[in-house]
Amino acid sequence: MIIVGNFKSYLVRKGDAETVVKAAGKLKTKHKIILAPSFVHLGYISAKKHKVALAAQNLSIFEGGAHTGEVSADVILDSAAEYVIVGHSERRAGGETNSIVATKVCQALGSKLKVVLCVGEAERDSHATYLSFITEEITSALKGVKENDFKNIIIAYEPIWAIGKSASEAITTDDLEEMTLFIKKIVHENYGEKQAKAIKILYGGSVNAENVKSLMVPGLDGFLPGRASASKETLIALIEAIDS
Ligand code: PEP
Repeated sequence: MIIVGNFKSYLVRKGDAETVVKAAGKLKTKHKIILAPSFVHLGYISAKKHKVALAAQNLSIFEGGAHTGEVSADVILDSAAEYVIVGHSERRAGGETNSIVATKVCQALGSKLKVVLCVGEAERDSHATYLSFITEEITSALKGVKENDFKNIIIAYEPIWAIGKSASEAITTDDLEEMTLFIKKIVHENYGEKQAKAIKILYGGSVNAENVKSLMVPGLDGFLPGRASASKETLIALIEAIDS
């Protein structure tokens, strides 16, 4: 399984972020753990020393140059992060459009960063319009991606209605299985079989040690926890629950 821990802005002190990264690095696990501290902490934490992969939580649409406050893909790469989260719903809520997300995906891949692309609907309706919404989020973001780069894309399905809730309010196993297949189908139909096989799919939205086992559905490659990744106790409990 792939676990992408998004620390968001939960951890204030760099030492606290490093404690979680260090604890994850010491785990004897077959799972791929990717942790996303804040930009500032990213520059301080050594991926090599702690033997985990690191991700940034965002990146600039600009390559570099006169863009005050922006953090470009190349700067992220230089901080030893291998991955970048793109299009998280909390960023989309702040005005990030599908077109901005598509530009960020291209910037990231162009700089050899791997992409964790977040998609997810705000609500579900009986006419299933959320399926067209997800289709549009995925196809617009992957429009410019070269055939060979699909292996560098992880899609994190994170329904907004399930984020930041309790374990019992996460998605149901059946709905998650259906969405995993649906996402594979979108990639297959729009880009081809090879690309659909190469792409990885994660689920995010109130995942923790309590519910992770029941959410391990066929076709799903892992999870993107937020809160549960931001302390060593909850992160380790989550990973141990996967193996239990
Ligand atoms: C998220 O926002 O990506 C997320 C999954 O958060 P949480 O696990 O806290 O619901």
